Amino acid sequence: MEKLSLSIVDVRRLVFGDMLYCNALNKCLWLILFGVAALGSQPLASEPGLSPQAKPLVVTSIKPLTLIANEIAGDLIEIRQLLPDGEIPHHFAIRLSQHRLITNADLLLWVGEGMEAPLAATIERARNSDTITASGLAGISTPAMSIADQHIWLNPENGLVIARALVTALGEKYPVYANRLTGNLAIFAERVQDLETELDTLFAQSTINCIAEHDAYRHFAANFPSLRILGSLYDQSGILVGPRELARVYGHKQVDCLVSETPRPSAQVINLASKLGVNVVTVDPLGASGESRVYTDLIREVAAGFSACNSSE
Ligand SMILES: [Zn+2]
Repeated sequence: MEKLSLSIVDVRRLVFGDMLYCNALNKCLWLILFGVAALGSQPLASEPGLSPQAKPLVVTSIKPLTLIANEIAGDLIEIRQLLPDGEIPHHFAIRLSQHRLITNADLLLWVGEGMEAPLAATIERARNSDTITASGLAGISTPAMSIADQHIWLNPENGLVIARALVTALGEKYPVYANRLTGNLAIFAERVQDLETELDTLFAQSTINCIAEHDAYRHFAANFPSLRILGSLYDQSGILVGPRELARVYGHKQVDCLVSETPRPSAQVINLASKLGVNVVTVDPLGASGESRVYTDLIREVAAGFSACNSSE
């Protein structure tokens, strides 16, 4: 059989989509036979040299996952991100274009309902693509008392778990890429290891006590006993914590800084910072405003933000 310029999506549409319109039994049978034969030659459509449109489509939800996917398979597949970098993943209105991307994805990578809640219903309904729900992967570590904090990628070990899951899923779907995916994973793992050594040194120096605007940093801080998140003012949904928790947070005396996700902290943060006489530093867990092109640089930006906390007087 000659090479087919059909992607798996085309074949799926041909077999299942066009079947709805076929009006003669023999035409349906022909479509099925043709589709099965084409499925057997699936990797051909993805071979280097074919048009970019023939590349498998991996859809990611947010920037940290996009960076991981890029490093693992950016040279082999097309990667599209659902949410614009600056959009808050916890609450947004899903658009038709995002709905379409989810439906068309050959593989979908998201954190999970606890992070990108508005995507949950569409992903559940779509069911037509393989989905990696990162928060549900075996091996993802969650620090005690932080079940609500789903910013799991801030722990580089979790980044590695997500990268491995991607390699496994893509390697199974597109065996022709397996070796290159494994090679990319080895480079990724090396970068993570270097980063961890670097951060261990950075945070071994002194103790940082901070209060976060948004409960987003526990997966990062859990790696460093010297970095203490004393509390947060807002929960994951952006709702101010209850009066009891607020009183507890306000009661802290040993605070080095307040941590805001953007350079525009809320009035609540500005208030508390002035009451405590400390600075506000910006630590963006999504890397939205940063220039990071690789995952480990995003984590470095986060680390640099917390380091600024220590140097603020
Ligand atoms: Zn968040």
